[in-house]
Amino acid sequence: MDFRLSEEQELLRRTVREFADAEMRPHVMEWDESQHFPMDLLPKLAALGLMGIQFPEEYGGSAMSAVDYCICIEELARVCPAISLTVAAHNGLCTSHIAMFGSLAQKQKYLPRLVTGEVLGAWGLTEASAGSDAAGMRTTAVRDGDGWVLNGSKNFITHGTIGGVMVAIAVTDRSKGHRGISAFVLEHGTTGMSAGKKENKLGMRASDTSEVIFQDCRLGPEHLLGEEGQGFINTLQVLDAGRIGIAALAVGLAQGAYEAARRYAKERRQFGQPIAAFQAIQWKLADNATRIEAARLLTYRAAYLKDQGARTTRESSMAKLYASEVAVRAADDCVQIHGGYGFVKDYPAEKFFRDVKLVTIGEGTSEIQRLVIARQLLGQ
Ligand SMILES: Cc1cc2nc3c(=O)[nH]c(=O)nc-3n(C[C@H](O)[C@H](O)[C@H](O)COP(=O)(O)OP(=O)(O)OC[C@H]3O[C@@H](n4cnc5c(N)ncnc54)[C@H](O)[C@@H]3O)c2cc1C
Repeated sequence: MDFRLSEEQELLRRTVREFADAEMRPHVMEWDESQHFPMDLLPKLAALGLMGIQFPEEYGGSAMSAVDYCICIEELARVCPAISLTVAAHNGLCTSHIAMFGSLAQKQKYLPRLVTGEVLGAWGLTEASAGSDAAGMRTTAVRDGDGWVLNGSKNFITHGTIGGVMVAIAVTDRSKGHRGISAFVLEHGTTGMSAGKKENKLGMRASDTSEVIFQDCRLGPEHLLGEEGQGFINTLQVLDAGRIGIAALAVGLAQGAYEAARRYAKERRQFGQPIAAFQAIQWKLADNATRIEAARLLTYRAAYLKDQGARTTRESSMAKLYASEVAVRAADDCVQIHGGYGFVKDYPAEKFFRDVKLVTIGEGTSEIQRLVIARQLLGQ
């Protein structure tokens, strides 16, 4: 057992950290206030290999490991969780689904443009009335000759407005329950597909989130992604990997909040001394640093097991559950340690506090993670 990162991984961490500090940190609040993903950042993220982190070199990807992926997502989230979410959703949902279950022709068609950051990927599972109970979706894909016609709408879709390629999950045979659900891959601009309401969000505001609507959207047979009827089962496998990414995002966000709190505690003076001299503040810092290390270990372990080819349903959910709840506490304590200055936008505390809530909700809420873990423990 070796808990150290390799020299290459340490270099990767330093490289992404320096990039995030130089290219992202100065603009974080401007992107947050304008609620726009900065498209001019895409080529820069792609130049570092961050738009195709775990995908094969033959498609232009960086062919990095799942542990490397965690390092990248973590370092982006330490500075801007919303940009990290963009990169995680693009890599871990849309692109992953195509790489895992696409035909050779689909991989050759879509992956090169996704992994080089030419287009952003969107992934549509959630609907207005089907969130945690995703299998209760209403969007249908009905046979039409040898193709399909999609009708329905997807909610809360990351890159719903600005994505170039989308994976959409739809019911193809309602009588078969979750075995009657299939996945489709299509390009934005396809007739019958349109972006609906763009969400005005509490946090993660630089990440694009919107509704996507399908109205008699006709697709040829080449758009079916994976086997007919396997879409929901494949989705659960995509989420097993995706949740490791959200866990890494939570660890990075917690680290950013903890560092901001530590820095402020050393600068801010009350009663004639830095507030870092008070035991109440020291214990908050100590507890957060300890919890973040534990969350990082759970996350890297899930990633390591994924790299070994193991199924990680339980480990991914444990990492996502724990890391996201650790991040919520770190962001809360960050605001508390900043006092009134934690409540205003001149310091990073309030943004971490707003952004963090997404990690206990996206890719399955904390309640759903507990349900997944319990089912695994009980062999259900
Ligand atoms: C910023 C953002 C980006 C997103 N990006 C995407 C995306 O790219 N693609 C996509 O498909 N989706 C995306 N989502 C959707 C996200 O995955 C869902 O919001 C999430 O799964 C929860 O679904 P819901 O919002 O409908 O909540 P609900 O399922 O309605 O849950 C409401 C509450 O009930 C609880 N609950 C529900 N069922 C149970 C149960 N069985 N036991 C105990 N408690 C339960 C939940 O934990 C929660 O507390 C995004 C969401 C957000 C906010």
